[in-house]
Amino acid sequence: MANFKAPTETVTSVNARRGAGHNAPNEAVKAEVAPPATNATAVYHMTSIPEKYRTPVSITNKEFVDGVFHDLGPEAHAYYTSFPEPPEDANPGVWMGAPITARLLRGSRFTRPENNNYYVVSSFYADADGRVRRRQAQFAAAHTICTDDLGAGMSAKIPWSAVKLEPSYVIETSPDNCQAGMILKARCEDADYYNRVVDALVYQGLAAENDPGMKSVSRYMRAPVGTNSKKKYGTPHQHVLRSWRPELRYTPEEIVRAYELVLAPAKPEQQFRASVKLTAADDPYLQVLSDLGLVLTGEIRSGGSFQMVDVRCVDADEHTDRAEEGCVYIVGGGTLVCHHGHCIGKRSREFRETLREKYGVNTDALDAELRLARHAIARQIGTDNLAALIGTGAGQ
Ligand SMILES: [Zn+2]
Repeated sequence: MANFKAPTETVTSVNARRGAGHNAPNEAVKAEVAPPATNATAVYHMTSIPEKYRTPVSITNKEFVDGVFHDLGPEAHAYYTSFPEPPEDANPGVWMGAPITARLLRGSRFTRPENNNYYVVSSFYADADGRVRRRQAQFAAAHTICTDDLGAGMSAKIPWSAVKLEPSYVIETSPDNCQAGMILKARCEDADYYNRVVDALVYQGLAAENDPGMKSVSRYMRAPVGTNSKKKYGTPHQHVLRSWRPELRYTPEEIVRAYELVLAPAKPEQQFRASVKLTAADDPYLQVLSDLGLVLTGEIRSGGSFQMVDVRCVDADEHTDRAEEGCVYIVGGGTLVCHHGHCIGKRSREFRETLREKYGVNTDALDAELRLARHAIARQIGTDNLAALIGTGAGQ
């Protein structure tokens, strides 16, 4: 799509392009006061940033967050961190971060240009205590696929010529070193798939020799308004937004095709040992049912190809005889099967509605956890057996 060059910039070419009153980036200003350009090519190497990105763009971090998180899921939160001190000197606690709120975007540390301002590529759910944290178990969805260290600057690792899709945004985060992001058309709720696409993009698509730190759903990237005060750059570098085209959005599949990526086979996650089935201990719904006092004996019974636990039906007060027997929770399935007349035909959707409306449970968060666990299982036992394990009524 985009055809990037990696030009060797010179004083002459910068000045030739610059019109009167042009709001020039720092390096071009320096070029103006530089000596006559007789030796310019050899001496005054300016930047590898493609010409189309030379004119800085100005937006607020609110506009940026609105554009990147255009498909934020219900009850999911975008996430940030912000601090004024050089990252090397900062207390490690600054990386804990916090969810992005509307109030924050109206005026706060996160909107201050002098701070190191970051957002996370993913959104996260609150945990059972209502705390939103940047961690895998609370992952909601990924929203951007980002490329770090583009350019020819001091810490840059990837040449512009490697870029095949026009980014939704480009931020120069230190001199001649950019972060570029591709906003996803729809949020990607499959963390493992997202990670495999990003991995393949880093090592195949961009041929990075060293991991430029693009991996993982909890990755922090810099926001357009902010300053990179890492000490290795000397003077703090105020971020320069080089391109903002939020209308350019991609699916992971489009990125896979454009870069001709071969995805790694799905890998078991560390916390799941091979050959271990999704157990009661790994099931977030069962934990909630237990917390609500709905689990009866706690005995895990075999249902043949699946396991089940006797529970008090979430609609037991609607049963004509108020009987509490006859309802089981399918382990790993996120669903109840109740044999009472009132409940016949109810499936996971009704079960979730009742949990939300009657018990105030955040079922989206539980579903996200369940999906993660299922992906791990699917990788171990194969998808053919998965349906049998989790039951057909389970799911979205
Ligand atoms: Zn029932």
